[in-house]
Amino acid sequence: MHNVSNDNAFLSSSLKDTIKVDDFTRNLFDLHKRILLEGTAQPVSLGLFRADYMIDKVGDEESLKQVEVNAIASSFGALAPRVRDLHKLILSKYTNVRDLDNRLPRNESTAQLANGLIQAWDMYGVSKSVILVVVEERTINICDQRILEFTLASLRPDIHMIRRKFVDLSDKLEMKGNNLLYVDGYEIAVVYYRNCYSPEAYPKASHWELRFKIEKSKAIKCPSIHYHLAGVKKIQQILTDPDELGKFVSSEESELIRKTFVPIYGLEMNEEGNKAIKFALENPVKYVLKPQREGGGNNVYGLDIVDVLNKVKNTQERESYILMDMIRPPLIKNYIISSGRKVSTEPIDLVNELGIFGVIIGTPNEILCNYEAGYVLRSKKHGVQEGGIAAGFGCLDSVYLY
Ligand code: ADP
Ligand code: MG
Repeated sequence: MHNVSNDNAFLSSSLKDTIKVDDFTRNLFDLHKRILLEGTAQPVSLGLFRADYMIDKVGDEESLKQVEVNAIASSFGALAPRVRDLHKLILSKYTNVRDLDNRLPRNESTAQLANGLIQAWDMYGVSKSVILVVVEERTINICDQRILEFTLASLRPDIHMIRRKFVDLSDKLEMKGNNLLYVDGYEIAVVYYRNCYSPEAYPKASHWELRFKIEKSKAIKCPSIHYHLAGVKKIQQILTDPDELGKFVSSEESELIRKTFVPIYGLEMNEEGNKAIKFALENPVKYVLKPQREGGGNNVYGLDIVDVLNKVKNTQERESYILMDMIRPPLIKNYIISSGRKVSTEPIDLVNELGIFGVIIGTPNEILCNYEAGYVLRSKKHGVQEGGIAAGFGCLDSVYLY
């Protein structure tokens, strides 16, 4: 992801068709281009990424396949260890299983993600500066964010975090001296986005100016614009081409990484794009159609794919989508307990999605820090297409090794 994000020619050529038809990706890309032209006062970038996988089961063969890589506002890193500890406690009280620490692999994701923010703050190197968490108007996932904040506070009481809504920042933000970023009088060392991954976050053109201003500043951005761009779904599709992936990793790495890929197709106005559309129209249940969006609820499945493709197939608009083979996860019998809903007395069919966190800090020339940072398991009712934790169809879960 780091290498991809720093290859400007690759980002430009990969996104050139998408940005003609997708306004949001174009806004991100334009911002990136302006930064390349005008420069940023901060060469260091922080990424708190999460790569998601599902088990693909064909006959007796099972393997992990990548769903997507999240480069901005990756969530659940703080709640995941708590759920694991809760499940461990329950198993210790109500079962005879002894080696629970091996059964439920340890998960330090909260501290490890906090550690990424701490290292970035230390690199900024100003004792009075703070970390700014940029949030939505209404934050459903506030507990996850707060636990991360409290963990950071307990690890490093000298570092303060402030939370501000992105849309409120226009009035609060000040640039001083050589692009030092100030908010409400605090010098900002690190800007940690838990927002700004979808068009709704930018109700006016001025909000893109706001993001640009932040991007230009001396604060370390998590993620900076090029890290954010490397995480868009079009890039994921292009990287399934071995020649493209081979530009960024060794051939041994490429081989390992590609084992986690399912085929993903671009829908360019050419022969290959036509072929992909033909397959999808003939056999829609085999695929998921994805626009360049994050945050759940945007993908198209089954017969809806036929409707959408029939609408866009003769226009350039089709290039704003990618088409991905469906992963076929095995069904696990279990229960979902969620607030305000009746728990079924019979176990139901669930599917799991494993997210692996990763922390990276780097400049265009150098990787300063790069480590795996724990995991989260999410489970959802079989047949519900999207993750849907907020909607109550999915839940946080724990890995149990057997
Ligand atoms: P988002 O950025 O909205 O999270 P995702 O690519 O993660 O988009 O897709 C959302 C959900 O849709 C995933 O959590 C997963 O449950 C389901 N999904 C996505 N891609 C696939 C796939 N190829 N096969 C099966 N399910 C998928
Ligand atoms: Mg996802």
